[in-house]
Amino acid sequence: MLECCRRLIEVEKDWIPDKPNHSLYIRPTSICMDNKLGLSRVTKSKTFIILSPVGPYYPKGFVPVKLYCDTTVIRAWPNGFGDKKVGGNYAPTLRAQRDGLEIHNCDQVLWLLHDYVTEVGTMNFFVFWKNEDGEDELITPPLDGTILPGITRQTLIELMKGLKEFKVTVRNFKIQEMIKAVDEGRMYEAFGAGTAAIVSPVQSFNYEGETYQIPIEEDKGAGKLTQRALKIMNDLQYGVVKRPDFQIPVCDV
Ligand SMILES: *Cc1c(COP(=O)(O)O)cnc(C)c1O
Repeated sequence: MLECCRRLIEVEKDWIPDKPNHSLYIRPTSICMDNKLGLSRVTKSKTFIILSPVGPYYPKGFVPVKLYCDTTVIRAWPNGFGDKKVGGNYAPTLRAQRDGLEIHNCDQVLWLLHDYVTEVGTMNFFVFWKNEDGEDELITPPLDGTILPGITRQTLIELMKGLKEFKVTVRNFKIQEMIKAVDEGRMYEAFGAGTAAIVSPVQSFNYEGETYQIPIEEDKGAGKLTQRALKIMNDLQYGVVKRPDFQIPVCDV
């Protein structure tokens, strides 16, 4: 598949935008091509790659989002398929997203598995706080089968560890831990992480009728670490910094 992508991009290279922060979206896709109706294993499939030039995600700077914690819908569960980018995982989430917007005026859903924090919208989720032991810590949930193993998540974990300025922790944590951190003034920042936006700063979350504020710099629309994370990722993508030892994680789909 990587070789197919390389060959296609070689053919279509004139579509790669040359302006800063524009990109060429590459989306490999597989669909079933069996000529029958019915629920059965696929015997014929078609795999193709969609290419699309896209403009900057934040043409006028960061846009921080408000999150709604839906306690009635679960996006992914243990031994399910939430860790795969299959279409069936996404359509059922759209109603929760719409209700979050129309009823609660929130831009995205913060997906919980019971009380555990998993992902935001279609992005992985990071919290930067002072933990209960008084240490500065960047935390994200582990790949336990309920989390999409995003390349942006993996890259940020490695790059943020490389800074050696704070602890980077991969463990499950509960929404109540986030609430406690906000209440005790230990919450620094929170952001989503995914290819399109790279990082998406969070300004608040609503849980059971209460809204909890997360600090951002008003004029920038994001906290300091979120701004740095975007800069570091951009520098890596534009070859300003080199990471020859960086390994692309193996995809097991
Ligand atoms: C695509 C996606 C992500 C982000 O993955 P990237 O490889 O970083 O783009 C995270 N969570 C979900 C549910 C996704 O669909």
